[in-house]
Amino acid sequence: MEKVVSLCKRRGFVFPGSEIYGGLANSWDYGPLGVELKNNIKNLWWKRFVQSRDDMVGLDASLLMNPKVWEASGHLKEFSDPLVECKQCHTRFRVNEAWSDEVWWELAKKLEKAKVSDKEKLVQETLKECPNCGAKNKFAAPQRFNLMFKTLIGSAEGKASEAYFRPETAQGIFVNFKNVLDTSRKKIPFGIAQIGKAFRNEITPGNFIFRTREFEQMEIEYFIYEKDWKRSFDMWLLEMKDWIKEIGIDLKKIHEYEHPERDLSHYSKRTVDFEYDFPFGRKELYGLAYRTDFDLKNHEKASGQNLKYRDPETNEEFWPHVIEPSLGVDRTVLAILLDAYDDSVEGRVVLRLKPKLAPYKAAVFPLLANKPELTKAAREIYDELRKDFSVTWDDRGNIGKRYFSQDEIGTPFCITVDFDSLEKKDVTVRDRDTAKQERIEIKKLKEYLRGKLD
Ligand code: ATP
Repeated sequence: MEKVVSLCKRRGFVFPGSEIYGGLANSWDYGPLGVELKNNIKNLWWKRFVQSRDDMVGLDASLLMNPKVWEASGHLKEFSDPLVECKQCHTRFRVNEAWSDEVWWELAKKLEKAKVSDKEKLVQETLKECPNCGAKNKFAAPQRFNLMFKTLIGSAEGKASEAYFRPETAQGIFVNFKNVLDTSRKKIPFGIAQIGKAFRNEITPGNFIFRTREFEQMEIEYFIYEKDWKRSFDMWLLEMKDWIKEIGIDLKKIHEYEHPERDLSHYSKRTVDFEYDFPFGRKELYGLAYRTDFDLKNHEKASGQNLKYRDPETNEEFWPHVIEPSLGVDRTVLAILLDAYDDSVEGRVVLRLKPKLAPYKAAVFPLLANKPELTKAAREIYDELRKDFSVTWDDRGNIGKRYFSQDEIGTPFCITVDFDSLEKKDVTVRDRDTAKQERIEIKKLKEYLRGKLD
């Protein structure tokens, strides 16, 4: 993990947020290479799940929504984590994370029945010692801690009203269900997809970009007939696995975790997490949830608007049920980087990214920097390639150093223009993974690259 974090900083994938001011804890900024990688992931996802399918449309909703949305969705009441604080060192812990889900559920059951005055003692008896400072029996009574970020809309003096930054992109989809239905004329089963930021005031952010307070999600709400939910859920399990394969993550490191019933979110009847073997443990990468008709039903009740779907054959009106594949962009970036990082070859680091995800598809070099005719020929190739691909230029140091530098950021091909190129109109293309070199005609370069990007 440290090696990947250090590579990210050194080469411009991810920087600590607000660094010149000493940073802002657990905030991260994507640098020139990080933003390319992230955009490639998002574009691939969009192409695969929206543009390539007849049963899907896209959406881009606001981050700030009417607060009534969060009342109806249950987030104001339910979207909280169990929090305990050690009275000695004042560290706050999420019980399910610092101990385990089992410990939390046992405790929660007892707390429900306990008198307020007994709660502190109960927590101390169960959790005993502070994992941070070791203090015994110093925990304060637990609190539920709502994870939504509150903000004020309008002028702070006087009439400002409270609002929340969305903690998931999903609700933007539900509140637009009718608009999308009326304008796109889709028939169920169909889905609405969205990529965008979500905000959660996490109690225990950390592990680099794994858990942050501001992150990006790629979510689909897939609307179905209730009777089809099992089949649709199984189909989405396969779709998610195929996606994971497509982005080059080793499936041996992926584990499907079926949530036990008591552990399900307030809206879900079945949830399966795709967990990944991160260096800090096996943790959730993605989630797939059957949300029933919970959201549309509640938004209809709260808004007074008809959010039902009319079946074109039977004319029957009902709330469609929903299967939700939910994917974190930042966790995808992290898993991809961890999986791609390879320092097993003596003396060099290779980022074995799938070519279609690599920030640069190719780097173009003149063999020698001080020969204008080489630079001119290489520049022409570079300018031509950049019309169709993301490519980079390097003429510093020797070829070996340039290869090393490109390997480290995952550039799959290095193209060198030498004296032979001027006469024979071909170049040397060196492959990142095999380190093999071959001569390719300049006029066939684009075709060559395109063939390698699928
Ligand atoms: P966790 O149990 O790790 O807190 P969650 O179950 O609350 O995650 P979901 O509400 O299912 O997460 O969110 C869907 C996806 O959004 C997750 O699978 C993950 O990829 C991503 N995600 C959720 N919270 C964060 C966060 N704080 N930082 C980065 N990504 C996140």
